[in-house]
Amino acid sequence: MRLMVFPRSFIACDLETSGLDASSDEIIEVGLVRVEDGQVTETLQTLVTPTRPLTLRIKLLTGLEDTDFAGQPGWAGVRESVLRFIGNDPLIGHNISFDAEFLTVHGGYRDGVCYDTCDLARIILPELPNYRLESVCLALDVDYPVQHRALEDALAAAGAYLALYERARVLDPTLLANLATLLGRHSALWFPVFNSALKEAAGVFGASRIGTGRSEDDWAVPPGREARPDEVWELGIEDILGRSGALARLLEAYEFRPQQLQMAQSVLKAFDEQGILMAEAGTGTGKSFAYLVPGLLWAMKQGERVVVSTHTVNLQEQLIAKDIPVLREVLPAFRASLLKGRSNYLCLRRWHAAVSEGAFEGSEALFLARTMVWLHSTQTGDRSELGVKPDEWRVWDSVSAISDGCAGNGCRYVKNCFVNRSRRKAEQSNVVITNHSLLLSDLKTENRLLPVYGALVIDEAHHLEDVATEQLGRTVSGYDFTRWTEMIRKLANKIDRLAPELRQPLLEVEKQVTPGAADLFKALAEAGRVLSGSGEGLHLRLEPGAANLALEADISGLAQRLHDAGGEACERLDRVGMLLSDRILPGTDDELLLTFEFLGKTGRKLLGDLSFILAADHPNYVCWLEPKIRDQDDCLLRAAPIEVGELLYSGLFEGSRPVVLTSATLTADRSFAYFGSRTGIVHVPPDAVQTVQVGSPFVYREQARLFTVNDLPSPAGGSEEAYLAGVSRGIEELAAAAGGRTLVLFTAHRVLKLVYYRLKPVFEDLGIDLLGHGIDGGRARLLETFRVSEKAVLFGASSFWEGVDIPGEALSCLIIVKLPFQPPNQPVTLARRELLREQGKSDFNLLSLPQAVLRFKQGFGRLIRTASDYGVAVVLDDRVTTKRYGIQFLRSLPVPWETASLSAVVVRLSKFLRENDEKGTSADKAQ
Ligand code: SF4
Repeated sequence: MRLMVFPRSFIACDLETSGLDASSDEIIEVGLVRVEDGQVTETLQTLVTPTRPLTLRIKLLTGLEDTDFAGQPGWAGVRESVLRFIGNDPLIGHNISFDAEFLTVHGGYRDGVCYDTCDLARIILPELPNYRLESVCLALDVDYPVQHRALEDALAAAGAYLALYERARVLDPTLLANLATLLGRHSALWFPVFNSALKEAAGVFGASRIGTGRSEDDWAVPPGREARPDEVWELGIEDILGRSGALARLLEAYEFRPQQLQMAQSVLKAFDEQGILMAEAGTGTGKSFAYLVPGLLWAMKQGERVVVSTHTVNLQEQLIAKDIPVLREVLPAFRASLLKGRSNYLCLRRWHAAVSEGAFEGSEALFLARTMVWLHSTQTGDRSELGVKPDEWRVWDSVSAISDGCAGNGCRYVKNCFVNRSRRKAEQSNVVITNHSLLLSDLKTENRLLPVYGALVIDEAHHLEDVATEQLGRTVSGYDFTRWTEMIRKLANKIDRLAPELRQPLLEVEKQVTPGAADLFKALAEAGRVLSGSGEGLHLRLEPGAANLALEADISGLAQRLHDAGGEACERLDRVGMLLSDRILPGTDDELLLTFEFLGKTGRKLLGDLSFILAADHPNYVCWLEPKIRDQDDCLLRAAPIEVGELLYSGLFEGSRPVVLTSATLTADRSFAYFGSRTGIVHVPPDAVQTVQVGSPFVYREQARLFTVNDLPSPAGGSEEAYLAGVSRGIEELAAAAGGRTLVLFTAHRVLKLVYYRLKPVFEDLGIDLLGHGIDGGRARLLETFRVSEKAVLFGASSFWEGVDIPGEALSCLIIVKLPFQPPNQPVTLARRELLREQGKSDFNLLSLPQAVLRFKQGFGRLIRTASDYGVAVVLDDRVTTKRYGIQFLRSLPVPWETASLSAVVVRLSKFLRENDEKGTSADKAQ
């Protein structure tokens, strides 16, 4: 056997398989590449005939057909040559654990060392938006002409690995030395790579630049455009947004939108009059410019600051990275910055402590290695640049800049602190972009988080009530206690060298708390199951003192035991911390003392939340138990305020500061009453409140059709079997007529799954790829697959009703299965309904119905995303026409509706899409 000199000699591997499960699926293609001293010297590629036909998904992904396997060997005829080719050499591949598992299960690989190019790319290129092989190759300029075929993927992985190694060689040698030390201590796997790179390093040793960021400050006003006090801010709205305004002159594709101009004028009026404006703006209005432009004109003239708050990160990114740079081109100089909550930023002190203490595992070491590279380039320390994966959250939490872990001015890194930097920028900015969570935390902390501001814009305002409910709520689980006790254990081990006699007392209390928490939360989860059944997402409302749970287990006894143990742990943390502070020299081991303080605070908060929720007798709060889907022995205990309107009023709307609230969905049945009542605007004197509704610039009458089907079983009453059969038939016929290209919105995951499994084989026969949320992957991955598929149907629930933006033909048909009334198992909704009934009001008319109408509008909004889009929406729920309230749903949409039988709707849908497809084809040809 040859001696492979890693890291330049290895076997690159990729497999195509018939599915994702190594124990039940098969290998259908093998690609192996031998690399010696950086050169490809041999390859092996073979198709492997599977014992079962390929699924449509695999055919679409690989381009392989069942006929391609004629005359190809089965796995038994391939296995030996694969084993021989790999031998004992190091194996490299992208997400190699997947391939290695398949090979091992099928006897084509004997245990060896595997190097994942995805992991290496995450370390060396920490800021890539994703780590798919094509993205990594693109970033490294590695050829990757054919995707999802074994040999091409293996060659690309080999090229990517070699290019990554070259990138490592030119890293700052101090950084390389630190990486080699970190990985050498904790992840022997990658040590040879960084150690070799260090030996061959091309750079020059210098002082570490960790935490000092890039030299270029992209926040600053562009050179040559420094702000001058006398600069003219006398421009009017039309000068910028008008038909021949500055934006029209700047942007070739600029479309003048009267609706945008109308909204911008209303916003400026609200600012000038110091009033509250509720502005509903249809899809495509361009509402971000409609508030940014008047906001800036007003702020610069008044010498004030405007805060813009959004719900989603996407919108924040769009404002700061797209819209504001465009406005910089047409407006006099101004400053804008993005400010997020503390947990979004890395804390340099906690990070240095984590790296030097070294009490972490291999995967944590990889994450810290990534952050080490990233810290040499990041200017913000914002975790969004890193794309933290779910399994990295835990490590991120241990190095994030949460306030309880901050040493304040006593911190030795305070000068470069990312939180302080982002605050300083915000304090010097004319516009600050933030999110609803931080805006509401700012209220809770009496305005200590945001800089003083003169006006506020709340975009995506339909989320304001939910975010306020979440922010003012409390949550605790057994997992929270486990994490706390793990940190106590680590701390106990850490003090061994300073005060060995203090280690044991800490370990003892930790030993009491861990089983105490496990017993309590297991009993709670079990009692919750007994009392509420096993239905989807059932939440069990707690009676005062959790009396209903007490019927099933000795909850108060178990809670008391945990309280006693937890209280004792907190006291010992205090005592041991005090004893240590007497022994250590000032300036040394400060981190240790801060950790004692931090863990004491964390424990007291956990115990406080536990007592608060189990007491369950607080005015204006509802408390409940929520099962954990992936852990039967744990559950979440939660509490949330029933009403948040008064708090929002006193914190945001009382006084004379102008506030603009905007969204595409603020009105139900053409009225702002529901939104105003839920958010407390109803308490503002009416003469200070203005409203404006601007329609969408899209020509919905031409671009869209809306049908309701009248001959399918109703969701209200009747047998579930008949209902599911009817819904399945409706979806099948409509999606087949549309040729896939269909998004189906469900209100419950359970029904989504039942219909999915009925239709999967049917669509497979039709050559349509069916994608189910929670079955075929997460939201982002499914949306991406759907976007690029020619014939796909996507089933989505909850999160798919908004934020899905798929312009073009990929989404030409939208099916709304059921009207989106909130399910009856949500304790907060139930409590709100009860409160309205106690006040003698109609909870259906004032809460359930408008809430559902807004959701319905959001769902419909997925269909038409641009002026050239076209599509058909179909509502399968007959209540929209048979119930009196149904008209409110239909009237809320910008397109007239027709009601017909399923077969008639199918005919009209086909005709409408065919005509528009043809128009599109002729337009393409004419170009
Ligand atoms: S000032 Fe606080 S948040 Fe900033 S680096 Fe120091 S400890 Fe971390």
